[in-house]
Amino acid sequence: MRTFKCHHCQPSTRLFYDNTQCMTCLSEVGWCPVCQNVTALTPDNEGGYRCGNPACQAALVKCFNNSHHGVCNRLQTPGDHVRYGGLCDCCRHNTVIPDLSIEGHRERWAALEAAKRRLFYTLDVMGLPHPAPQDESPLPLTFAFMADALPDKGLWRAAGSGEKVYTGHASGHITINLKEADDVERERLRIDFNEPQRTLIGHFRHEIGHYYWDLLVKGQEEEASRQVFGNHDEPTYAEALERYYESGPTPNWWNDHVSAYATMHPWEDFAETFSLYEDIVSVLDTATNMGVAMGEQDGGIDKMIVAFQEVGVAINELNREMGLVDILPVVITPTIRDKLAYVHDLVERSRVN
Ligand SMILES: [Zn+2]
Ligand SMILES: [Zn+2]
Ligand SMILES: [Zn+2]
Ligand SMILES: [Zn+2]
Repeated sequence: MRTFKCHHCQPSTRLFYDNTQCMTCLSEVGWCPVCQNVTALTPDNEGGYRCGNPACQAALVKCFNNSHHGVCNRLQTPGDHVRYGGLCDCCRHNTVIPDLSIEGHRERWAALEAAKRRLFYTLDVMGLPHPAPQDESPLPLTFAFMADALPDKGLWRAAGSGEKVYTGHASGHITINLKEADDVERERLRIDFNEPQRTLIGHFRHEIGHYYWDLLVKGQEEEASRQVFGNHDEPTYAEALERYYESGPTPNWWNDHVSAYATMHPWEDFAETFSLYEDIVSVLDTATNMGVAMGEQDGGIDKMIVAFQEVGVAINELNREMGLVDILPVVITPTIRDKLAYVHDLVERSRVN
């Protein structure tokens, strides 16, 4: 991730990816898709804006979820505004949004959208396609953000249908339970499931891993995937799931899997490995943009892993100074390195920009 400059005041004022206002000059700011910056906005007195970046000055319209719900900080060109029904390049992927008449839902939805925007930023760094339903694609990417309808220890109110919502992916459609955006609830689940890195962005990175298996591997290079992650047809996913919840993860799973859950089935192994790969790409991207030295990079996975571990150790120590959890509990063994190398090669071959 980069930081950005406010062009309405001192160029030294930093703007951050999620900002909607410059804290120095109080100008409205937002994401301009034309110059790919968070910039100050100049109202055009007709309900639209101009990008404040002097090198861009594109005519822009706020995303509907920005202007009406305050859960987005993006703008779009007037042409795309019409074409995509008022929704920006992130929000147009939504098929279900939370019931906003329930207290607390808007704030949790905003946290989910912020994590989704960060996910898309990393996917763009990786150069991967993420087609919206309005784009003509055989496998559009869609999201549903939903709350459990059942009351959960009094924290959650019924939303109507009497169903429990499972976070997961099926055929390009990612569902995320709204309670993952509640810090207290997520912390409880993090401890219950012994998942040290259960985070909101982590859920998106895992589920999008399933999407890219379907988009890039399914029916195209399943044999190569079998060689690295094992046979995804035998046992079936349902059998593997039952076995995992009966007998738990494979003993000594850390020798060849990035997490206990990755031992459940080759698809979960791929998604967990893909998620770690996104962690590596995003941490290195941020470290580079923040001027953190991390050695020469040659575009290969091995130097990426070394740099990630070096940056990770430094961040772990900084976090320990502040009493926060480690960001880097994963030990990358030779087998895990080979899985990451497969994902790296797959991503490099699939780049569309
Ligand atoms: Zn400013
Ligand atoms: Zn611009
Ligand atoms: Zn939006
Ligand atoms: Zn999964």
